[in-house]
Amino acid sequence: MRKVCDANELRTLPSGVKKPEFPVDIGEMHEGERVRKPQMYFEFGGLKTETKWELVRTRNTDDIKDARIIIEGPDLSELKEGGSYPLGILVEVAGGKVEKDIEGVLERRLHYFLNYIEGVMHVNQRYDIWIRFTKEAYKQGLNSLELFGKALIWLYKTSFPILEKVQVTFYTDPKQVAEHLDAARKVWSKRDEHARSLMDEDVKEFYGCIMCQSFAPSHMCVITPNRTGSCGSISWFDARAASNIDPNGPNFVIEKGNVVDTEKGIYEGVDKVLQEKSLGSVQSVSIYSMFENPHTSCGCFEGIAFYIPELDGVGVVHRDYREETVNGLTFSSMAANTSGGIQSPGFNGIAIEYLRSSRFLKPDGGWNRVIWMPADIKERIKDSIPAEVADKIATEADAKNLAELKEYLTQKEHPIVQRWSEQEADKAEAGEAPAEEAAETTIQIPSEGEMVIQTPTLQLPTTGGFKIILKNAKITAEKVKIKRLEKKK
Ligand code: SF4
Repeated sequence: MRKVCDANELRTLPSGVKKPEFPVDIGEMHEGERVRKPQMYFEFGGLKTETKWELVRTRNTDDIKDARIIIEGPDLSELKEGGSYPLGILVEVAGGKVEKDIEGVLERRLHYFLNYIEGVMHVNQRYDIWIRFTKEAYKQGLNSLELFGKALIWLYKTSFPILEKVQVTFYTDPKQVAEHLDAARKVWSKRDEHARSLMDEDVKEFYGCIMCQSFAPSHMCVITPNRTGSCGSISWFDARAASNIDPNGPNFVIEKGNVVDTEKGIYEGVDKVLQEKSLGSVQSVSIYSMFENPHTSCGCFEGIAFYIPELDGVGVVHRDYREETVNGLTFSSMAANTSGGIQSPGFNGIAIEYLRSSRFLKPDGGWNRVIWMPADIKERIKDSIPAEVADKIATEADAKNLAELKEYLTQKEHPIVQRWSEQEADKAEAGEAPAEEAAETTIQIPSEGEMVIQTPTLQLPTTGGFKIILKNAKITAEKVKIKRLEKKK
């Protein structure tokens, strides 16, 4: 089933583009609106749907028809209330001044533009989108994808006057959504590969992104050649292109200024901009450390790097991993500790592309510190994991809990085992009893220098039937140890 609509009123005229007639309001004030299940009419993508995606491509002017909306598959009125459905959104743009580099930034704008529509919630990006809209919006007349297309065309054209033509295709036919997802993955890989050609030291400036401040007001992504924005959608090249087109927009230049520490990724210029954009709530960031003044996270991150204190190692989990991770926590329970624009030492919201960076967690031990990750994500980035450690990092197939993980790491002689030995030797030298004699469980948060934890509410990940919740706490410590009071029987 194919429907083609031409929104002639949205063709670019010398007088500009007129706002389309629309059954609900469109505007920035609707950003951040949540659509809970009882209010929902139905949803596209999300956890219950395997295939979903959104993609923006630049085209030659003759290849697309301006203001055309195509629906491949059933329209909204043909879908049953309460269901979860696959969806692909393809936005094709053209214009004399439109460069390929802008694709990633325009694609990320889909998140914001769809959230501008009253009664609509859009979450995540690329292959992981989730769109819900309310019964109320449907009742008011938001009952066709044609209307979504009109809103997008209008918002793109008014926000980016260099776009002479915009064409939008919605795929709702499950077969076509799946077919086009494979092609979209190739486009994203190519974009990410291009961004890998540079190192931080090759460039004079980094870029900031504050697109997510409507959800996390103190959050700013620092985008460098070696660290893609946490959503995985905005590389250094994308941010540069966006800032060239709209220097006062959400992507802007950050002069690096004096380098404080290259390995940790501390720059005076970055800290200065960060203090200003976070309204003073973040003073300094180590772009590459997850322990010392880590990069903040908004909520759109593709994955989380999380500390496993019992083994002094780091786990990595991606958003699509639905099971409990090896520490007994799921992605969503850890996301609560990671998001909100606060610095949470031990939790770092990351782009999957950042796993491919040669600076990935460098000051914390890099790949030698990573001890567990889901098999799916390990397979996807295996060519970027150093060969000498790749087989030693456990997946859910090797270890389901910390005891199994410890055994696996020991058997495989993972570099973390050496770290444990060195820590034991240090303790012996300092006259401390070895861990197994001192207590049943010892959680030790290591830090090179000082660690500051600053958070409104933080629940520490624990095992063994107890919970630690810190509220409005500011903790400064060189070392933290939590020991059981009772001895093992
Ligand atoms: S996650 Fe970061 S890079 Fe991505 S849109 Fe949000 S602020 Fe920008």
